[in-house]
Amino acid sequence: MAKVIIAGGGLSGLSLAWFLKELRPGWEVLVLEAEDRAGGKAWTIIEDGFVCEKGVNGILDNKPSTLALAARLGLEPMRSNDAARHRFVIKNGHLIQLPVSPAQFLSSKILSLPGRLRVLAEALVSKGDLSKDESLADFARRRLGREAFEYLIDPMATGIYAGDPERLSLQSCFPRIHELERDYGSLIRAMIRLQREARKKGKEGPGAGPGGVLTSFATGMNELVDALARTLGPAVRLNSSVSSISKQNTGWRVFLKNGEELEAGHVVLACPVKAVSEALKETAPDIVKLAVKINYPPVSIVCMGIKQGTTENSLNGFGFLAPSSEKRSILGALWDSSIFPGRAPEGYQLIRTLVGGARAPDLARLPDASLLDLVVREFSELVGLKGTPEFVKIFRWEEAIPQYEKGHQALASEIDFALRSYPGLYIRCNWLGGISLNDCVANSERLARQLAS
Ligand SMILES: Cc1cc2nc3c(=O)[nH]c(=O)nc-3n(C[C@H](O)[C@H](O)[C@H](O)COP(=O)(O)OP(=O)(O)OC[C@H]3O[C@@H](n4cnc5c(N)ncnc54)[C@H](O)[C@@H]3O)c2cc1C
Repeated sequence: MAKVIIAGGGLSGLSLAWFLKELRPGWEVLVLEAEDRAGGKAWTIIEDGFVCEKGVNGILDNKPSTLALAARLGLEPMRSNDAARHRFVIKNGHLIQLPVSPAQFLSSKILSLPGRLRVLAEALVSKGDLSKDESLADFARRRLGREAFEYLIDPMATGIYAGDPERLSLQSCFPRIHELERDYGSLIRAMIRLQREARKKGKEGPGAGPGGVLTSFATGMNELVDALARTLGPAVRLNSSVSSISKQNTGWRVFLKNGEELEAGHVVLACPVKAVSEALKETAPDIVKLAVKINYPPVSIVCMGIKQGTTENSLNGFGFLAPSSEKRSILGALWDSSIFPGRAPEGYQLIRTLVGGARAPDLARLPDASLLDLVVREFSELVGLKGTPEFVKIFRWEEAIPQYEKGHQALASEIDFALRSYPGLYIRCNWLGGISLNDCVANSERLARQLAS
């Protein structure tokens, strides 16, 4: 009998297996992955000299978990170029650069003068009712004003969650911002106090945004996946889809779609909601009833390789996001070859555009030709793209990014509570405990320590 079976070989499942092997080298740990490759949403495709990320772009270095794991695996991280500090938002059909400092904000065109003054007045806005699970949109309008919501916060929700800020929960999506209001009464006052404290210690204080430098590896996120899979060796079994699990006297029985049956003392479900619901349909319908409430809209990624000079805009920067008030049919784009070196062959640029998400799920499901047409049309209007791209790859995620909507925290607590009736059964995937890779890896390390002790 295996000690631990992990269903799902994304980075939650792989890192959990790795931490367990580190802590308990003698334990039998098995990762069952449905696909013919491990890595889940972290997946790099290299073709014709273009290094395309199918999903995860990179890791933010403001939390340590993933980069610490990468270092233990002997990997050399690659920080994004300085140009990636230039981020843009569409306003009235034009790309406007986002300010990176309070001084730049004061003279920025991203908000009108009244809009900027309203943001400064945030310091005078009294604390809201913090017991309420407030939407990101309500929070932003209340503290920063309508215009800042539309052109600063709404695009942030798009960039991180491909989500709808009217439905996303501030507390679940951006817990640190919620804490700053709770602890300091105002975000501006919090920033001033924290900057002052940091300066006293000779450190750099927090900025206005989520912070952190995007980091990856020379040949993309696959380096992390491959290093984990290589180290784990036969502990990762591909083409092994879990169909259901059932409780035994002393552990769990795991049923695979190929008819195989395995036994384990502990089972960790490290896969998206649909697969977890399928696996627990008979055994834990109470957990399924809760899990299916999580909205998981689709996103499609259109990767385009274009000859340098075929756009009027030089595409020098991180990329741009589209506020919903601008009514564009794309969520935004990343200028990958400007973010990281070596992403496109000499003389070419690589761009990835996101389509779909919580507000436009149907657009993500358009056929390839219509999807490409739509992106090319947007690019010709927004950055003056002439002609069509020479290299195109379209990637689709039907269950892309789980939405932490209002009520998510209560839902997550209910799931945690329900799991107590199933000793030896755990869930570790990005739909609980944080969507970022850093959160997933940290949550897996925590569970590994819990199991090992
Ligand atoms: C387009 C996109 C871009 C993103 N960009 C970033 C980013 O830049 N930075 C960041 O921090 N996060 C990013 N994320 C979020 C990121 O995907 C997650 O944090 C992380 O990759 C999730 O890993 P996971 O292992 O929890 O889930 P997944 O990666 O979804 O892995 C789940 C695994 O379970 C497997 N599986 C499914 N069903 C079964 C079954 N029945 N049996 C066995 N195995 C099964 C799947 O094949 C998959 O391998 C992005 C997400 C998307 C969709």
